[in-house]
Amino acid sequence: MRRDLVVGNWKMKINQQSAQKLVDEIIAGMPDIDADLAVCPPYLYIPEVSQRLANTSIGLGAQNVATHLEGAYTGEISALMLKDFNCKYAIVGHSERRANYADTDVTVAQRFKQAIDADIIPILAIGELLEQREQGITFDIVAKQLNAVIDFAGIESFQHAVIAYEPVWAIGTGLTASAEQAQEVHLFIRQLLADKNQQIAENIQIIYGGSVKPQNAEALFAMPDIDGALVGGDSLNADSFLKIYSSF
Ligand code: PGA
Repeated sequence: MRRDLVVGNWKMKINQQSAQKLVDEIIAGMPDIDADLAVCPPYLYIPEVSQRLANTSIGLGAQNVATHLEGAYTGEISALMLKDFNCKYAIVGHSERRANYADTDVTVAQRFKQAIDADIIPILAIGELLEQREQGITFDIVAKQLNAVIDFAGIESFQHAVIAYEPVWAIGTGLTASAEQAQEVHLFIRQLLADKNQQIAENIQIIYGGSVKPQNAEALFAMPDIDGALVGGDSLNADSFLKIYSSF
């Protein structure tokens, strides 16, 4: 059976002091639940958060990872550097990076593969824009984003990956996809994977992101193909974040 997973994406919405406070509050309030929990701080705070998370069951993740292993890549952070600080996860292809930092299906696939090769679990974020949903091409967009990574990294690499379905129109907007809308896409993603490898499709965690809150988490998590959440805004408050985690 798949384990459930909640991941906090702190984005660039935190400073050193509030990061320390937040991680300590999460550790202190962590309920005894049989599911996975992880946080993704900005790169600079990873060493410190990593120290604080040592000897806890809370996983550490990065918000991105470089497309290459080493070399002349000014400003980039490689998968091996993240591995040095015990990162278990790295988000790749977040819509904010696709929209603002020119991430493409090609570079997202490269980042995904870098994470895999370094034994880091990539959290592959995919999802459609509002106009694409309105045009009725949500499945086409999600399939294109996913197939680009499968073609580059191979279906087997999804044995050690997480997929985050994040409809772009629901991120940071307060608009959540309804549990049924999200389930429909999660099922589509799982079927797309099943066409290539049944076992991987059954085992992979597919989490939902986009304005997940304590008020809507339970309905989302009740859906058969929703295995958890990638949480932005509400991951910055320990109480809300842990309430979401407690909603399985
Ligand atoms: P949100 O962000 O929860 O603030 O909508 C989700 C995300 O960007 O992963």
